Amino acid sequence: MHFIDVILPIPLQKAFTYHITKAESEFLKPGIRVAVPFGKSKIYTALVYKIHNNPPTAYDAKTIHQILDDTPVITEHQLQHWEWISQYYMCSLGEVMRAAMPNAFLLESETIISKNEKIEIKDSELKDDEFLIYEALQHQSSLKINDVVSILDKKRVLPVINDLVEKGVLNLQEELYEKYQPKLVRYVKLHDNHKSQEKLQELLEMLNSRATKQREVILTLFTLEASTKQPIKVSELVERSGASSAIIKALIDKTILEEYHIRTDRIQFEGNGDIDAKVLNDAQQNAFDKIETIFKEKAVTLLHGVTSSGKTEIYVQLIQKQLESGKQVLYLLPEIALTTQLVQRLQDYFGEKVAVFHSRYSGNERVEVWNNMLNNSDKARIIIGARSSLLLPFKNLGLIIVDEEHEQSYKQFDPAPRYHARDAAIVLANLHKAKTLLGSATPSLESYYNASQGKYGLVELNTRYNNVLMPDIELVDLADKYKRKRMKGHFSDRLIEEITETLEQGFQIILFQNRRGFSPIIECTTCGTSPQCPNCDVSLTYHQYRDQLRCHYCGYNSAMLKSCQACGNSTLDTKGFGTEQIEEEVRLLFPEKKVARMDLDTTRGKYGFEKIINSFEQREIDILVGTQMLTKGLDFRYVKLVGIMNADNLLNFPDFRAHERSYQLMAQVSGRAGRTDLRGKVIIQTYNPHHNILQQVSTNSYKDMFAEQMNDRYNYKYPPIYRLIKITFKHKDYNRVNLAADWYAKSLRQVFKSNVLGPEFPPVSRIRNLYLKNILLKIPEKQSLSKTKEAIMKIENSFNAVKDFRAVRVILNVDNY
Ligand code: ADP
Ligand code: ZN
Repeated sequence: MHFIDVILPIPLQKAFTYHITKAESEFLKPGIRVAVPFGKSKIYTALVYKIHNNPPTAYDAKTIHQILDDTPVITEHQLQHWEWISQYYMCSLGEVMRAAMPNAFLLESETIISKNEKIEIKDSELKDDEFLIYEALQHQSSLKINDVVSILDKKRVLPVINDLVEKGVLNLQEELYEKYQPKLVRYVKLHDNHKSQEKLQELLEMLNSRATKQREVILTLFTLEASTKQPIKVSELVERSGASSAIIKALIDKTILEEYHIRTDRIQFEGNGDIDAKVLNDAQQNAFDKIETIFKEKAVTLLHGVTSSGKTEIYVQLIQKQLESGKQVLYLLPEIALTTQLVQRLQDYFGEKVAVFHSRYSGNERVEVWNNMLNNSDKARIIIGARSSLLLPFKNLGLIIVDEEHEQSYKQFDPAPRYHARDAAIVLANLHKAKTLLGSATPSLESYYNASQGKYGLVELNTRYNNVLMPDIELVDLADKYKRKRMKGHFSDRLIEEITETLEQGFQIILFQNRRGFSPIIECTTCGTSPQCPNCDVSLTYHQYRDQLRCHYCGYNSAMLKSCQACGNSTLDTKGFGTEQIEEEVRLLFPEKKVARMDLDTTRGKYGFEKIINSFEQREIDILVGTQMLTKGLDFRYVKLVGIMNADNLLNFPDFRAHERSYQLMAQVSGRAGRTDLRGKVIIQTYNPHHNILQQVSTNSYKDMFAEQMNDRYNYKYPPIYRLIKITFKHKDYNRVNLAADWYAKSLRQVFKSNVLGPEFPPVSRIRNLYLKNILLKIPEKQSLSKTKEAIMKIENSFNAVKDFRAVRVILNVDNY
């Protein structure tokens, strides 16, 4: 008897077992895809996990449907890495598989509806909707669910279909279809009929007399062929000859031309690949040598280099070395920093060897990167991508660079696997016996702590490239400015002076405000009511551009109210301010300057960021207003002034990391100023100019910040001293969430005593009509992580056995950074 365990792309606690034949057992290997039946009538694409001879005890193993590959589509290291992720972050292997594999690899069954030919039914026995479906099947042999949706012009069609199946009128059948469509490009050549000198002469003479346009096309084709010595695309021929595609089609129809298709890569590289890397200066060279030395002993090194110290150029040299020894490099970046700026820089050096991978890529583009890697192609030596690129099939990895390693977007929040890309990268590198370089101007406390403990190596770069001074940071006391009437809107006189001067000198300005929209709260000055989201426990944000109120949690929106819904007075006022309001105020203050805004609302679409970033680079914009998107490692040459509109809402955020994050954010935005020769200037407006974090930002004292924050983390038992697992409960019923969370917390307390915090409602306690409640479990350094998780799973299982709790969603978030 032969069996396989497979991973299904759904959250199952265990692998599922199927029965296979002896021949199949000889052919199959872990990592090959098979189509298997699962549940009542679904077919899934699964991955072979293990091949063995033990029948399952709890159920009869079904047979597999079909084998989908000749060779594995994932590597052994990948599987090991997935296992680690699933274990460490407490999720199923199927969830990791779902996150890792391009959708196009996960064939799905599609329901095919056909008529039951054995049954005769009178039209009068059918209801209206039923008749429409039945009639459609008189004209075609089968329909898909989507077809029925358009025939009936409504979304809920399953009840109707089910009724018809029960009446025996319809048959249902599940069919697999391949989602990946290779991209085919149309080419043309002269038809074989005319290849001989003689025939060609005849042809040209014939065209000469009548069809001049067609003749033009043929001659252009010859010229192109002669000059490029390569296949000629139809699109190219159209462009060069100026003829319409109809003319080319006519030539194809007349068998004068012949068309053919070639499969091409969707992802075409753009850079030259022939630009020489920059020569490192002494400080950079020194850092480079140190990194190399440390790598001889340690797997991980932290490169702590102030903004604009030239870290990227050091990465380039390290990459170069890896390529020379035939290894692959993974260059991880926060999603948002993946702009053409950096990609272009790398492609200039490494050309076609660079492959880019991020979530804005289409499914087909992802498949191509995946396949190139699986084939260890030369097109995939350097993978630059956001966190999920860590899950690709690396063959021969030598180095992982985690740039901006402090970025919180490296942690996946939802759905599972809730992994931290930096930590998962270190594990991946270890599997490949590769090295990991973490880079940041403002390292996370975790990484700096690990470095200070000797677990990681540490290399520091304290000067900017070219010895440009760190920007001069000035704190402006808002309370004082308001009292002395030195404010225009949200701009202090100091900020206005600096903006004016910078503009006069012809430099650019960045203004940072960590909220989008016009105003986060609308309040009635008569009765104090402010409009709330009907689905979430938050105030609606006013967006002036659309004259709308919007919820930033669920997307709910409504037209701006004319009067207060509670008291009816038209005394609605705005409180607080977002990027939209700042943009408007700047335009009024500097009417002849070009102002743009960069936030979630202005950067939608595949090239959203790029457009704004490019025009800022081209100096088509004088003043750029934006949210934290502006902080992500962008390199602008002509920015001299950065204004932080209000530091206080960063500092007051209710989270144990708020101070660390505020430091990072402000140091990073400030770092956009004065990157080339001139010293930059930063104005931070705040009600708390004496706040320690602001003092540390303005004196560039990362180490003081680190020491002080670490002290708090020791005292209050937070990471990196303790580990955290956050357990979130979600349900639409308020009471049930309370009961469930209380039950769970009580059980946890029996084991973990005072290290269990909560349950507590988060600041936003209801999102999309679901109530949320959190428990925080603190895990001391010496406590075994695996035993802790075992204990949680035990509680989880008893929890799930309680009928009332089964509908409550429980989300485990390990290392909730
Ligand atoms: P970081 O990544 O540390 O913020 P970058 O690598 O972006 O810094 O470097 C800052 C600026 O200095 C960039 O414009 C870069 O082109 C330039 N630069 C850095 N190193 C060199 C070098 N060795 N030679 C010439 N220019 C350099
Ligand atoms: Zn909402």
